Order: sequence, then C-alpha cells, then structure tokens
Amino acid sequence: MKSAFLTWVFFLFVWTLNVHAVTVSIPEQVGQGEPFWVEISSEQKPLSINVNWMDKVVEYPVDLPGKQRILLGAGLDHKGKYPLNIVFDFPEGVLDKSLHINIEEKNYPVQHLTLPESMVTPPQELIDRIVREREKTLAALNTLSKKRFWSDEFARPVPGEISSPFGVRRFLNQQPRAPHRGVDFRGPEGTPVKSLDAGVVILTGDFYYGGQTVIIDHGLGFQTVYMHLSKIKVNEKEQISKGDLVGLVGMTGRATGPHLHLGVYLLGEAVDPMFLLGGQFNLQ
Ligand SMILES: [Zn+2]
Repeated sequence: MKSAFLTWVFFLFVWTLNVHAVTVSIPEQVGQGEPFWVEISSEQKPLSINVNWMDKVVEYPVDLPGKQRILLGAGLDHKGKYPLNIVFDFPEGVLDKSLHINIEEKNYPVQHLTLPESMVTPPQELIDRIVREREKTLAALNTLSKKRFWSDEFARPVPGEISSPFGVRRFLNQQPRAPHRGVDFRGPEGTPVKSLDAGVVILTGDFYYGGQTVIIDHGLGFQTVYMHLSKIKVNEKEQISKGDLVGLVGMTGRATGPHLHLGVYLLGEAVDPMFLLGGQFNLQ
C-alpha cells in the first residue's frame, strides 16, 4: 500500500455565511487487485453517505463528525482511470463530488501447474453442476449488507506460510486459466481455520473446484472465502466473531495437497488478502 494520499477539500456553501468543509483523501495510485481506504473528515454530520464505485452504489453508516474510512478494492481485471462518486446529504444541502482512482497494471508472476486432466477440463456431465456452483458463489460474493460487522484488525486464518500468492497467472497443463483470486496457505490436514473477522455465514457447500467451501459476509460488500476444507464447522446464517473456527484445512475440490485458499472480496472484486493481514489496513 502506497502511503501517499491525494487530498481534496470540498465546500458546501449554505446561504452565504455557513460553510461546511469535507475532506476526502484517496491513494495516489492503486495496483490491480489491491484494496484501499478512502478517508473522509468532516466537522458536520451528514444524514447519509453514498459511494458509487465500479457501478455499485453503497450507502455507508455515518461515523461523522470526525474521521471515517471506507474500504474499497481495485479489480484484477481493471486498468486505468475509474470514477469514484461520493454524495454527502447534509441537512442544509447535498454535496456531490466525483474523483478518479487510477488503477495501475501489476505484473503478477506466472505459474505452471500439472494436474490430472479431469481437473483441468471437467467431464461434460459435470458442466451443469459447475455452472450452478459458480452462480451460487457469485451471488454470495455480490451480497451487499447495509451493516458493517467487522470493527477492528483482521485475524490470520491459519499460521502456515504462503504456497501460492494472490494474482498469479496460472497455466494448468499448459492451458491459460483465470488469475489466482486468493492466497494459498500451507497447512497440515485438520489445522483449524479461523474467520478473519466478525460476520454472517452466507454460503457453505461442497463444490467441484473449491471443495468444502465457506463464505462469510462481513457487511458493506466485504466477504471472505475459505476453500478446500476437510470439514466445515459453521452453518449458513450463523453469526460469528473474529477468530471463530470456520472449518479444518483439507484438500477437497481441485487441490494437489492440503492447503487453505483464502479469498477476500470487496463489492464483488477479488483483492489481495495479504493487504488486510499485513496490519496497515486496521481500522484505527
Ligand atoms: Zn488458491
């Protein structure tokens, strides 16, 4: 994460005497697949804050007056300038401001893997199942709860080292595949897997690619995904706290050995989980 921020001060002129100042800071640049904070400060409390990013409109709970941070992500498949629109509704009037975020191309490493042919090109009779599972997963990853369940620093789900980083461009048996939309952690089968933060379990299942999978909604368009588990230890709709047991490390689905695949999604876009686990993304 770059420490340099661009700061804008916006003024809402009410009649001719009363002036509200709102300061919005965004990073100078963001790499593909990186999460980032939008920092807002205001001495007045708006009635609402609406953010439009990547064509998704989110109404955030208002933590102002004072300072408030909003977590957004740059998609792996995006590059260039993207508009970020923020609308503050003050009792005296609406402050509607448009900024731009520059998403820089990032050269993620290339990885070649050799797998059993059935896992690279699934048999025809499984295509329906795979499509259904993909639709279910995508719907879960596009959940937009109005409440934020997470409130502090994020917990590492397993202690193991990274065996495959985020964003790696994969070739399976020489065939190009979608980039790696998560981080793989090494871990012996049966290692407890813990939730990054508080949330609600919105999907569990045994999927062709992901194996035994859990998706947790942390609110405001933020989800975490845990894949290839040997056992799932939570139920759908269950509320969980940070560090709660989600399941056990395994190698179900498309996996060549026991590991945890951890995915982090912001408004439906995969971002590098290590940014959240590195400490610099803690809320205060
Ligand atoms: Zn993975």
